[in-house]
Amino acid sequence: SRRTAPLRARAEIDLAALRANVRALRARTPGAAFMAVVKADGYGHGALPCARAAVEAGATWVGAATPEEALAVRADPGVPADVRVMCWLWTPGGPWREAIEAGIDVSVSGMWALRELVAAARTASRPARVHLKADTGLGRNGCQPGADWTALVAEALRAQAEGLLTVTGLWSHFACADEPGHPSVAAQLSLFREMTAHAERQGARPEVRHIANSPAALTLPESHFDLVRPGIAMYGISPSPEIGTPADFGLRPAMTLSASLALVKHVPGGHGVSYGHHYVTPGPTTLGLVPLGYGDGVPRHASGAGPVLVEGKWRTVAGRIAMDQFVVDLGGDEPEPGARAVLFGPGDRGEPTAEDWAQAAGTIAYEIVTRIGARVPRVHH
Ligand code: PLP
Repeated sequence: SRRTAPLRARAEIDLAALRANVRALRARTPGAAFMAVVKADGYGHGALPCARAAVEAGATWVGAATPEEALAVRADPGVPADVRVMCWLWTPGGPWREAIEAGIDVSVSGMWALRELVAAARTASRPARVHLKADTGLGRNGCQPGADWTALVAEALRAQAEGLLTVTGLWSHFACADEPGHPSVAAQLSLFREMTAHAERQGARPEVRHIANSPAALTLPESHFDLVRPGIAMYGISPSPEIGTPADFGLRPAMTLSASLALVKHVPGGHGVSYGHHYVTPGPTTLGLVPLGYGDGVPRHASGAGPVLVEGKWRTVAGRIAMDQFVVDLGGDEPEPGARAVLFGPGDRGEPTAEDWAQAAGTIAYEIVTRIGARVPRVHH
């Protein structure tokens, strides 16, 4: 993307930080291949530039949720052909033939999906590459252990014998890897070992077995198997404050969200601010207008709480965040109109972080960065 000035607001993406994060994660996961997770437009950071940067830093797989996302990665000339691309969100009627033709690895969690994929493979010029997903305890996507798993594996191996597909992966996903010591983690790992061993006894010969997301990649070496799938940590954000800060793991947040103040004005004390007048100026002061709102993904739940750095000082969102703008009380300071208001960034230049916004909004940092809207230009450098 191209820098165009002046910008109302921008999300700058530090690709050097992203590359360094990938290297730091790879150093913690020796022996495992690295899948860069770039679903939801790279958690808001721009899927394609992030995929390319991750590959430059040693990722050999790129992961996405939908087949459309995977196809976009596969079509990107900056992602070499020997990098494998995987998608895992099965939906009926998806572009499965196209995905098979493009050589994308597709996840299947049940018989319904497997049969549709096999039907698509019959019309394709090459076999489908399939990762069978086990529900080892997440209780979301994935095949239940026991008879369901045995039947799914058997059906996939029958189609493999017909030359319609290759079972390239056996995999699963954690529910609570971001909660240190949560008993479900050990239970999921042990069931994963059992389910993969069972599939292998049935004859599956997967290239990769994988279960580790960011928290598992960072804290659970026994979960790394053949491949790790970090998303949030690659963008430099800790999966949860409970397991540590980004700096504890040598990670640096890649996204900085800022805007140019659009108005600075003097107001008397007792002045209601923004819809509902939930903030009333305690005395004469200056107000700064930040031209970003919930239409840009700034969470309305952070009204009255979200922090913003303006000219070296932390200010707090005054009153409600509106669709396109919010106000900060500048306490009498008079920055020039156009001064920069930094909502969040790496945090080492005095600015708040996405984690600070997550706490202000009662959510997780994943949601803060991922929801930054398409109206905010991404500037990659
Ligand atoms: N693997 C799967 C299947 C996912 O859905 C996700 C994201 O939620 C990830 C890996 C990456 O997770 P995280 O961002 O916690 O590293």
